[in-house]
Amino acid sequence: MFIKRVALKGMAAAAALTFALGIAGGAMAGEAAHPHWTYEGEHGPEHWAAISHDYAACGEGKTQSPIDIGGAQEEPMPDIGFSYKPSKINILNNGHTVQVNYDAGSSIKVDGADYSLAQFHFHDPSEHTVGGKSYAMELHLVHKNAKGGLAVVGVLIGEGKENAAFARMWKDLPKKADDKTTLDAQINAEDLLPKDRAYYRYAGSLTTPPCSEGVTWLVLKEPIEMSKAQVDAFRSVIDGNARPVQPLEGRKVRSKAAATH
Ligand SMILES: [Zn+2]
Repeated sequence: MFIKRVALKGMAAAAALTFALGIAGGAMAGEAAHPHWTYEGEHGPEHWAAISHDYAACGEGKTQSPIDIGGAQEEPMPDIGFSYKPSKINILNNGHTVQVNYDAGSSIKVDGADYSLAQFHFHDPSEHTVGGKSYAMELHLVHKNAKGGLAVVGVLIGEGKENAAFARMWKDLPKKADDKTTLDAQINAEDLLPKDRAYYRYAGSLTTPPCSEGVTWLVLKEPIEMSKAQVDAFRSVIDGNARPVQPLEGRKVRSKAAATH
């Protein structure tokens, strides 16, 4: 029973990553190529690279995520061109996180290129830290451009006021690995963002195996809030899914100043 559940979790993760990386479905043959990993114990983050050759970047990579953001240099950078539209709530528990697959048609603009919003998901506690400070949770909005390049917008979530934008999703969080449902409601990812869109930018990776690099990270400076009850509700489903912060290895974090209105 336990073993079967674990195998299913691994398959779901493989499917999620395949989706995130834009690999053709045909590459999915043989789930053995995407073995089981976890956030603690013998398959935990410090062992990911040893689990599979495919996960080598988790150990050998030089631009890994997440990181502690500190000492970022402020410089002029364009606004993230958010162009989000409402989507059905296709919600999935893949064993590692709760993920909402987003309908086509929403995007951001980075370096002049459009990146389509493919999905968003959550981590608890936050994966990125700022000056060593960790947050209750973190939202990742995963975007892909026409060439398969990834840009992820990270939103830090502090514990505070109840956040109505999450209410509908939170009422039906899929409780078990591989549970999925489409809710009879729409969501606009725009409503999940903070008011101020100032951000940090750095070159990083997926924070889950295979830890692939070449990911543009855009971490918004202003955190959003969720109530303790909302954070606890997520933790009752996924308890602890944050990779520890990774060495900077000489990378610079750029910082876009707060927009003036
Ligand atoms: Zn993530």
